[in-house]
Amino acid sequence: MLKDGEDCCGTCPFNGSGNGNNHPSKDRKDLFCEIRRFVIQEPSKTYCNNHPFRNPLWMRKARGPIWAAIHISFDSKPLRGDIKLPAEVVPPQGEGNYFRIPYYSLVRPARGEAGVCVVCGEAKEESVVLLLERDKKFFCSTAHYFEWWLQTDPRGVTYQKRIPLGTDALNCRFKTVPEKLAEGMSVLEDGENEWLMEALIEVDELLLELRNGKIELMHDFLEKEDPELDLPRFWENLSYYLQEIQNELTVVGDLLRHEKMDYQEITRSVNNITRSVGGYLRQEWRN
Ligand code: SF4
Ligand SMILES: [Zn+2]
Repeated sequence: MLKDGEDCCGTCPFNGSGNGNNHPSKDRKDLFCEIRRFVIQEPSKTYCNNHPFRNPLWMRKARGPIWAAIHISFDSKPLRGDIKLPAEVVPPQGEGNYFRIPYYSLVRPARGEAGVCVVCGEAKEESVVLLLERDKKFFCSTAHYFEWWLQTDPRGVTYQKRIPLGTDALNCRFKTVPEKLAEGMSVLEDGENEWLMEALIEVDELLLELRNGKIELMHDFLEKEDPELDLPRFWENLSYYLQEIQNELTVVGDLLRHEKMDYQEITRSVNNITRSVGGYLRQEWRN
């Protein structure tokens, strides 16, 4: 699990400071996100899925919401059981003391004063507060903030309508990856890298979806203590091939950003991805 802050705006190459600042000052007010176009108020406590930790190809298309850290004490209620989150809206995990909740458009939710929860009506001495232009909203917990956000934030509403794909559907898409990568490689020597990039982006997106699905299963396991699920084997299966693909995406992403293309290294890296995709699918088939 990441240490809180390792994957924050302060260490992100898109924070406008040149190449990420590894020791972001809490008070630093001059960081500006080049992708989301906003002034980052608390770089060490703000996150998103465009950070290279979750975006190995450094894609500039915004992925999911911006997240703010909120003290874990507000993670006091469960999310409503019928809510199914697509991968992009699952909070990126951090270290123990903080939970992550999405910005409301570009407004940052924060720990604040006493208030009555707009979702359940519970009065709290301290609440999650959202300061809107003409209004102030209070929430008893991160779960109730999240539920309200999904119904109210314009982006939250669109996410709620998207049903997460099951593992079988994702694996079917994964099967088409080797062919797409081969097509991308066939034109790379002519200096045409768009096809390859497209295939790699698809791998990256599938990875996000697949990992997320598995992690949710892991949560299910912990909650229900399902004796049928062999957790250590399951966890190993999850980590090996998908982790290999993730690592290799970072390598090939880096190679493709270089001005002078190292064709041999790119070939090696893409071949590794193809092999790991094959390994992952064989493993899924055996299971
Ligand atoms: S909001 Fe995302 S892309 Fe922008 S600086 Fe922060 S982590 Fe990077
Ligand atoms: Zn509430």
